[in-house]
Amino acid sequence: EEAEFKKRTPRSHEIHERGKASLPMGVSSSFQAVPPYPLFISRAEGSRIWDYDGNEYIDFHLGFGSLLVGHSHPVLMAALRDQLGKGSLYSLPCPDSVFLAEELVRRFAPIEQVRFCNSGTEATMDAIRLARAHTRRDKIVKIEGAYHGHHDNVLMSTKPSLEAAGPARHPNTVPASQGIPADVKNNTIIAPYNDAEALDQILSEHEGEVAAVITEAVLMNVGIMLPQEGYLQRVRDITRRHGVLLIFDEVKTGVTVAPGGITELYPVEPDLICLAKSIGGGMPIGAFGGREEIMRHINHQEVLHLGTFNGNPMSMRAGLVTLTEIFTPEAHAHANQLSAALAKSYEDLIASTGLPMHVAQIGAKGCAMFRHERARNYRAWLEVDMELSFAYWLFLANRGILFPPGLDDQWTISVQHSQADIEHHARVFHEFVAEISR
Ligand code: PMP
Repeated sequence: EEAEFKKRTPRSHEIHERGKASLPMGVSSSFQAVPPYPLFISRAEGSRIWDYDGNEYIDFHLGFGSLLVGHSHPVLMAALRDQLGKGSLYSLPCPDSVFLAEELVRRFAPIEQVRFCNSGTEATMDAIRLARAHTRRDKIVKIEGAYHGHHDNVLMSTKPSLEAAGPARHPNTVPASQGIPADVKNNTIIAPYNDAEALDQILSEHEGEVAAVITEAVLMNVGIMLPQEGYLQRVRDITRRHGVLLIFDEVKTGVTVAPGGITELYPVEPDLICLAKSIGGGMPIGAFGGREEIMRHINHQEVLHLGTFNGNPMSMRAGLVTLTEIFTPEAHAHANQLSAALAKSYEDLIASTGLPMHVAQIGAKGCAMFRHERARNYRAWLEVDMELSFAYWLFLANRGILFPPGLDDQWTISVQHSQADIEHHARVFHEFVAEISR
């Protein structure tokens, strides 16, 4: 399959080789530099994307899930063209920022006030600063295997090796990059997912020192990892008891799992929510919000939150039109229903063949993982068959089904995907299973 991939994509290979001279690894985000080499993209429309060699794919990558709206949605394109004609940046507030803030307050129950930034990384960085100011404490707890962006505080234990990771219920803090000061590392404590007792223990050991627990309610950077029954509620109770804020990173889950995010599906109220990706209709965006009582520190200018591009008119218009005109209840239902149907066709085949894999699906997102049973924490996820995961990615890519590279990522299904797109995907998965069963 790798030979076939190379045969289909010589121009991607060539531009990547050329790019390596001026761009480290030939890319602008190291996640993009996947073997054998990244596909370079020349255009996209609807559910389709075309690489530099002209190969067409049905896109299930969708900007790591940033494009629940799909590519170049005509309603969004008209709005963006209109905005472009009126200027792309003011660095002064625009009315759309107020309208979009109101829409997020309407959709996300725990959000009373919200501030805009430009990425998921900024959203978690700003939320953590706010939590520290609110509690007057320095430490944070982060879940092993979770990803919250690339700022120093959270770039810890994202994918630690088993040797470095330490005790399962009291993991070591393992920086994922060099260049992070020891002081910062010492302020990030790692806890295992789906283990409320371990979290309680850790917070007891650091009583009065921890500002916040930051987590995704459903982990979305180790495949899709679901919370066990009652776990999130217990995390909520425990954090409250220790006077620790609970931050839900909804950068990926945001509007993709349900119109109002994860708290629509699980009855748990976090103190702060981080958003990005799909709320911006594909334009760069981030946001963080919560109760007025916490956001007040920004109102009082005790916490500074700044940015030249914050609330810029292109991203604000994109988010507003996407959320209010395109993501109707029917549109959400369409994407979710296609995603459920795709998961079902995977599951039926897995059940009938007894393949050592499983599928997790929630809303417009789903993921196939090559491990017999659901992994409930990062240590179990390490048992996923990575070789087979890579073979699957390559086999699908060679047949026009594009997934995020990196073996730990999900499908996202946009409001522009069709039943035929899903059927084609399911057919290719059948071919893959036939191939590996031979
Ligand atoms: N949080 C989560 C859960 C994410 O998945 C990501 C990106 N994949 C981020 C934060 C960081 O977002 P960005 O890449 O926009 O900085």
